[in-house]
Amino acid sequence: MDLTTAGADIDRVIVTAPEIQARLKEIALQVEADYAGKNLLVIGILKGAVMTMADFVRSLNCHVEMDWMAVTSYGSGTKSSGVVRILKDLDRDISGRDVLIIEDIVDTGLTLAWLKSNLQSRGTKSVEILTMLRKPDAAKVEVDVKYVGFDIPNEFVVGYGLDYDEKYRNLDFIGILAKEVYS
Ligand code: IMP
Repeated sequence: MDLTTAGADIDRVIVTAPEIQARLKEIALQVEADYAGKNLLVIGILKGAVMTMADFVRSLNCHVEMDWMAVTSYGSGTKSSGVVRILKDLDRDISGRDVLIIEDIVDTGLTLAWLKSNLQSRGTKSVEILTMLRKPDAAKVEVDVKYVGFDIPNEFVVGYGLDYDEKYRNLDFIGILAKEVYS
């Protein structure tokens, strides 16, 4: 869906569709170099990271294996609950693997801090994080995010996988949701 259709629900576009693709290509080149000669396993976090995962792996010019996890830390509101729950676990054992977590956004960082230590506890060789977006509060937590698409302001955003109450995931850009929609 594009901006014309999403209309008044979007206050402002902060990352356009071409900007997303260009940044993903840059990150893919970095990842190819960092993981040269390794057998990379990328783990997409459902549902928000679906678009990032799909476009990122297609930008990668090397073999990669994919798996998915679904966790929840938000209700249908716009604030992090801090409680992480696994809704869908990985299909396979990941011990000894070089893992790259693909996430849509780091806000408080609570979800990723929890996820990273959960995957490390499974005997992985390495666990790194790629996120499309990072909000300023993420700097306050002890979670090292190796690859960041864009640093964005502390506003509630939707699109390119990110939802509000399960809507707006299919926008091809990332925009700030108009406050009238959720207040
Ligand atoms: P954290 O634990 O606060 O870092 O929250 C991470 C999760 O919260 C993300 O994976 C998203 O699902 C959700 N989230 C955080 N900020 C936003 C936002 O601005 N729009 C939509 N979802 C968000």
